[in-house]
Amino acid sequence: MQGNTPKIKPGIFNNHPDSRMITNMNSCVHCGLCAESCFFYLATKDERFMPGRKADLVTSVYRRYCTWQGKVFPKLVNARELNGEFASEMTDLLFGACTMCGRCSMHCSTGVDVPYLVRLGRTMLSEMGFVPATLQSTVNAALESGNNMSIPLTEFLDTIKWMEEELMDETGDPLSRIPVNEKRKEILYTLNPREPKFYPLSISAMAKIFYFAGESWTLSSEMYDVTNYAYFSGNNKEAAIIAERLRKEMKHLDCNTLVLAECGHGTRAFRWEAPNYLKQQFPFKVISSVECIADYIRKGRINLDPDKIKVPVTIHDPCNLVRNGGVINEQRYILKQFVKQFIEMEPHGIDNFCCGGGGGQLAMSEFNERRMKAAVIKAEQIRQTGAKIVVTPCHNCIDQLTQVNIYYKLGIKLMTMAEIVAEAIIPHKTNF
Ligand code: SF4
Ligand code: SF4
Repeated sequence: MQGNTPKIKPGIFNNHPDSRMITNMNSCVHCGLCAESCFFYLATKDERFMPGRKADLVTSVYRRYCTWQGKVFPKLVNARELNGEFASEMTDLLFGACTMCGRCSMHCSTGVDVPYLVRLGRTMLSEMGFVPATLQSTVNAALESGNNMSIPLTEFLDTIKWMEEELMDETGDPLSRIPVNEKRKEILYTLNPREPKFYPLSISAMAKIFYFAGESWTLSSEMYDVTNYAYFSGNNKEAAIIAERLRKEMKHLDCNTLVLAECGHGTRAFRWEAPNYLKQQFPFKVISSVECIADYIRKGRINLDPDKIKVPVTIHDPCNLVRNGGVINEQRYILKQFVKQFIEMEPHGIDNFCCGGGGGQLAMSEFNERRMKAAVIKAEQIRQTGAKIVVTPCHNCIDQLTQVNIYYKLGIKLMTMAEIVAEAIIPHKTNF
């Protein structure tokens, strides 16, 4: 007998599945058109990596538990029980062969939201304790210490002091400061913990931009982490706890605008997903630092040397900031102010290929070999531009592309948006 509905149903199906879930689960017509849009498939030609196949893993569980055909004739309709063996297969493909970049959805003949289904699958696996330990430890670090790298408070404050001295050198003003925990400022600025840990100069670069823009701003030492890796682990409760901390810190410091640092998924997780986790709209403005910098240029608050960067420059579009976040033109507007030779990758903008490090991939070292192999698509995109500098407004992308640069011998320099803008800024006297 094929039937016998398994007793334990994945929690996400306990309530009646909503229309978004049902529509996406029933829309795939198995045409295979999405295959060529996924860099994992393009780089390896492994059919298991076709986006439709990954989506079908999740849908097959839905069929097994939520449709009468799947309950009675599971093999006939490819309905699969979520047992340990199948959970391992799903973990390998949904965590280890997808960055949730969303490029496939743009090329899908019926508009299936593949990353949405992949995340549903990750949520099921999270309920079963199948989140890769490496990714879960990143989430745990954020939950336990307040930042995903478990940077102690004293180390953080020492780094900020050191960067303040750097800022004084840059501005020539011994009174220039990096404010911490100051209340009622216009802006609360967040950081990716990679900045205080590995790239502190990107903090002083943004501080320099704020300085010359005459901005009223502060950092928080309590909650500065812009990332939310629970978005990638699929655990909504943990994602909500992390997002709530940032919301509370905004309330505590009583600032008007939250400026999210250069982090694609962090921007998406807080700006677009957190209102869903927290079931509320925020009473303050939330923008990315890219939009903030573009606004300073438009308003003439900072001036940039149009001849500053003469070598060819390209931009890598972080999936969660651009395709999934809607910040598409601002970064180009900024660079065109001071870059003499700006070259687009092909494809670019909302159709750009993922760097290969999204979706929590960088945290999951067990998939390193596959990650670097799949990154050949991005490496070739970069090589074809002939660029000497690749700018990307995401610290996660910076990390991945730094590894890609070495692995594929690209000979490029990687810069965040704040770093390249700070280099081109024309110092002027401020009233502060
Ligand atoms: S979301 Fe990106 S990585 Fe995942 S299947 Fe689609 S194209 Fe591939
Ligand atoms: S293009 Fe869309 S409908 Fe076709 S196989 Fe891929 S996900 Fe399914």
